[in-house]
Amino acid sequence: MNDIPHIGHAYTTIIADALARFNRLRGKEVFFLTGTDEHGQKIEKAAAEKGLKPLELANKVVGRIKDLWKALEISNDFFIRTTEPFHEKGVQKIFLKLKKNGDIYKGTYQGWYCVSDENFLSEDVPLEAEGHKICPDCGKKAILVSEDCYFFRLSRYEEPLLKFYSQNPEFVRPPSRMNEVVSFVRHGLKDLNITRTTVKWGIPVPDDPSHTIYVWFDALHNYLTGAGYDWNLAQFQKFWPATIHLIGKDILRFHAILWPAFLMAGGFPLPKTVYGHGWWLKDEAKMSKSKGNVLDPYVILKVFGPDPLRYFLLREIPIGLDGNFSHEGFLHRVNSDLANDLGNLVHRTLTMIQGYFKGMIEDGEEEQEKDKVIRQAFEALKERVADLYENYALSRALEEIWVYINSVNKYLADNEPWKLAEDEAKKRRLARILYQTAAAIRGIGYLLYPVMPESSRKIWSYLGENTAIEEISFAAFRFEDLKTGLKIQRPKPLFPRVNLQDFLKEDVPSAVLEKKEEKMDIVTFDEFKKMDLRVGEILKAEKVPGTDKLIKIEVNIGTEKRTMVAGVGDTYSPEELVGKKLVVIVNLKPAVIRGIESQAMLLAAEVGGKAIIPFFDREISAGAKVR
Ligand SMILES: [Zn+2]
Repeated sequence: MNDIPHIGHAYTTIIADALARFNRLRGKEVFFLTGTDEHGQKIEKAAAEKGLKPLELANKVVGRIKDLWKALEISNDFFIRTTEPFHEKGVQKIFLKLKKNGDIYKGTYQGWYCVSDENFLSEDVPLEAEGHKICPDCGKKAILVSEDCYFFRLSRYEEPLLKFYSQNPEFVRPPSRMNEVVSFVRHGLKDLNITRTTVKWGIPVPDDPSHTIYVWFDALHNYLTGAGYDWNLAQFQKFWPATIHLIGKDILRFHAILWPAFLMAGGFPLPKTVYGHGWWLKDEAKMSKSKGNVLDPYVILKVFGPDPLRYFLLREIPIGLDGNFSHEGFLHRVNSDLANDLGNLVHRTLTMIQGYFKGMIEDGEEEQEKDKVIRQAFEALKERVADLYENYALSRALEEIWVYINSVNKYLADNEPWKLAEDEAKKRRLARILYQTAAAIRGIGYLLYPVMPESSRKIWSYLGENTAIEEISFAAFRFEDLKTGLKIQRPKPLFPRVNLQDFLKEDVPSAVLEKKEEKMDIVTFDEFKKMDLRVGEILKAEKVPGTDKLIKIEVNIGTEKRTMVAGVGDTYSPEELVGKKLVVIVNLKPAVIRGIESQAMLLAAEVGGKAIIPFFDREISAGAKVR
């Protein structure tokens, strides 16, 4: 809520929307809930900085988020704001219930708290030399907080949780994350303080209003209140427990440990799956406003509409993994997959139906051997795609659909319709080929609907098909249900073809590129001379525990030894770095990274998101100046 919406936020909701649309096509009754978590210290602070009341800030941001969901064709059934009275009442009711059964009790807590993540640090986090702790999740300085508070008896749920995980291996997905959760719980769970007196912007504890309820206890219960808990019990009973909670992997522990424990304590059934999806990275860092690397989805929406972004995010990587967002990568997918493969197939087919048959879809003379291939392949594709969507393998489903698109392109080319068109005697054969291709396109439009609803509807309307896609269930959909006698629309391109330069021009107004432009400021020679660049020799190198890409390096810079932390672990092993000579900046302000003071920085090129270090290729001694 303290952030402007960016592609990272849109990603979760786009995945959820594709799953919701697919399940509706499957004939299931779907309740798709999304919303905003509006309480807590972070929002209190962000609002104060802007001179607003927290609710005023929330109202603004919610407006922007709802607009964005509309522009992205998000089909949520309900939008919950945790500041709504029905939610607050529901949370208070559950709080009292837990207090009554002894799962919530009063005590005192002292601990290190990360304001940014609204989270108490685990006691294992070591003290820094300066006497404070650094949040291991965001790297910011934590503050020491001591207060009277209410505790949730989390320790009581250690065994029940472990038992639950072992009986429900699908509860956390992808599976690698389940191991992470189990080992965390095995390590032991301590009671959790779930109220604050230092935070005013929250739901008051019933009967003790100087305390507010911890934002995670508050926010997680949105899944119950949003589904109808305590205000629409018929709906609640119909849809709870949830089939899937879809979240970013950074908040997996809250959802996979606290949430089921709260639910057990409250006597509610548990959701079937918590899916922790990966992050979209830009320049290797998680997108966030404070890091200045957000990509404003509005810029993309303005040029392309919703579907290319939906397609790119779901096609580029499986939802469990991290992806790197680049404008180049995005445009490549749009131009190659959408404009070329799919767009051209639709356009060529419609143009031929227009030219050869006055825009009328006709039937004709079947050649079994040639024609059945594309029909049978569709039936098989439909089953596979259904299985893949069902298993959250959206990227694989799209991949399969594209294999089919290209086989239809090939079918069309192999049958050389333009040659048949020259011979009046072959006109019936030509009609059949175009009918088959049009039927395949209709089927492709249908299968793509969960991911690209707008384009699917366009494809259908281009074909003159006037049934709504949503009205045909997956089981009932048939390749040959394309009616003859339909009048197609005059062919128009389905996707715009945009070149990178034009796109980046469009991009200029976004906050992102303003930042980029600042970065490209001219540096004077005097400013450049201030930088102390030297040859450094790597003496020691080791991975920073708990990270994949950070390496702690000890480097000899001639006059002394320095320690630095570098994000090069994707490309180099610590062993191969030892003894190498490279360029380091030695007068940069030190930064604390993962609790290690980094007193120098190395230079490296970034290639496809990986760092490549320029090493010296002649003998040279450490400490030599680079200028
Ligand atoms: Zn933090």
